[in-house]
Formats: sequence, C-alpha cells, structure tokens
Amino acid sequence: MSFNKVIGQELAVDLLKKAIEEKRLAHAYLFIGPDGVGKSLLAKIFAKALNCEKQTAEACDECVPCKKIEGNIHPDVITVSPEGKSSQIGIDAIRKIEKAMSLKPYEGRTKVFTIDGADKMTEEAANSLLKTLEEPPKETVLVLLASNMFKLQPTIVSRCQKVLFHPLNERAIMKELIERYGLDDKKAMCVSRFSEGRLGRAIEVLEGEALAKRDRVVDEFLTPKQLDYEDTWLYGEPREKVNEALNALAVYFRDLLVFNLSKDQGLLVNLDKAADIARDAARYPVERLEGIIETIADTQERIKRNANIKIALSCMRLNIT
Ligand SMILES: [Zn+2]
Repeated sequence: MSFNKVIGQELAVDLLKKAIEEKRLAHAYLFIGPDGVGKSLLAKIFAKALNCEKQTAEACDECVPCKKIEGNIHPDVITVSPEGKSSQIGIDAIRKIEKAMSLKPYEGRTKVFTIDGADKMTEEAANSLLKTLEEPPKETVLVLLASNMFKLQPTIVSRCQKVLFHPLNERAIMKELIERYGLDDKKAMCVSRFSEGRLGRAIEVLEGEALAKRDRVVDEFLTPKQLDYEDTWLYGEPREKVNEALNALAVYFRDLLVFNLSKDQGLLVNLDKAADIARDAARYPVERLEGIIETIADTQERIKRNANIKIALSCMRLNIT
C-alpha cells in the first residue's frame, strides 16, 4: 500500500516521505484533522515504509514486515485507541506503550507507536506521555492522531511535529466512491455531501447504517408522535453516537433552511431526501430553523461536556418540537 492510497492529503504525505528519504525523522508526529480523512491510514503506511525490507520511501506490501503491519500483528508497531464506556485513553494504555518503547525493536528497524485519539487521553495518561516525549527513546517514532488540537496539552503539541489533514472536496470523494463502489453520479454526490469531506465517513455511510440512523433521528424529532419518550433509542447509545445522530439531525434542519432560502434542491446535503425536505421545509419559518439548529448545537456541546444524555435530549425536544 503506497502513499498514494491516501487521497487529498498531499502535504502530509510529502512531509513524511521526505522525512524517510532524507533520514530526518522526528521523534513524534501529531496528525491533526477531522476524523475519516486518512490519518490512521497514513500512520499505517508510514509504519510500513519505516520497516519494509525494501528500505525505500514506499512500502512494498509484500515482505513479512509489511504484511504483519497490515494485519496489526507486528510486535514493533503498536496502536492504542480509546476504550471502554468513557471512550478515553487511560494510563494503562500509555504504560503499555512506554514499556514497549524501553525495549529494542524485536524484528523491525523502527518501532512505531500510534495513539489514535490522542485528544482523548486522560490527564494522567497525557502527563505520563509527556515524560516520554521529553526523553524520546532511539529507533522509535510516536504518531499521535487527534481531531481536536485544543484538547491536547500545549506541552505535548509543542514537542511533536505537526502534520495537518484537511477535509476532502466533494469531487475527490465522489471520484473515489465511483471507482470503489461503482456508484452512479447522483448517489456518489449524495454520499459525498453527507460525509462532509470525510472519506472514512462516506465509506461508513455506504457500508454501515449511517443513512438509516439519520432517517431514525429525523423521524424521531420531526414527526409529531404520541409516544412515551422514556424509551427513546438514543438514550441507550454511547455519547459519541448520540452526537453523531444529532449532527445528522442538524444537517437535515440546515437543509430545510437552505431550501427555504433558495428553493434549490441542488444545494442540499441530503440529496436523497429532497422530496421530504421540500415538504418539511414548508412547516418551518426561517427564524425558527435558525433557533432549532442553534439548540441542537448547544445540546451537542452539553453532551460533550458530560451532561446527562436523557435530560439534554428531553430539553432539546421541548425546544425544537
Ligand atoms: Zn515491504
């Protein structure tokens, strides 16, 4: 898997390739950018290139190290990511990495430790990692992946070489979806818009249940019902999933707003729902939609800050229905 598998992140790719070619590796890299734009893919390709038997800037994908890294079983290439209900990276995960760092590489040239979701480290974990960054071991590269730089300790950020990732443009995602999944233009455009510049999200949409979940949350909050809301399905979902669902809801309301202002279906994100949007938009005046979108954003913020999900959603429901 060569570096050109990473779509639309030329600056990030060039920076890492150059570092390998010129043998000027930093001890730690911080990949910053939204989820689903290629950070973990690039981290894996980087780890391969650093350990491939061919010893060039491009991994061959055929040698034993390349295959082991692809299968996540290379002893010198370790990734940790958030775990458990809290979706955090705790001290134990960081200690595991630090222990492995203190050893010589088993079979590779360069140990590569990836912390996927570095912005989700507990304070204890971050403090421990900081000590490692202050005295980085040899033959080791740390790769931190984060979507929110401001949630990282500034002292950690300052000790890493920053590598920026960007959302992709609509055309780039469409092209990829058409090639990979054989979609027609209209479907590819719909999924591309829904994914908001994140190819990983687009793939989730196609392979997962993102569109079904959107339909469920839209139905839940737009269709007047006489249900006992005690049993809302969202109450049982993890915090991140609730926020994803609210995001889909906010985008739907934004589409109603866009449609009311422009009457142009071509501008919608939820292209596959154009008829529903035209119908629903008639029920909501523009000022009301602006208020609803703001309420949803406030609710997401509260949920991120650990508010009780049930209370936050009940308040939101009162304000938007
Ligand atoms: Zn190889």
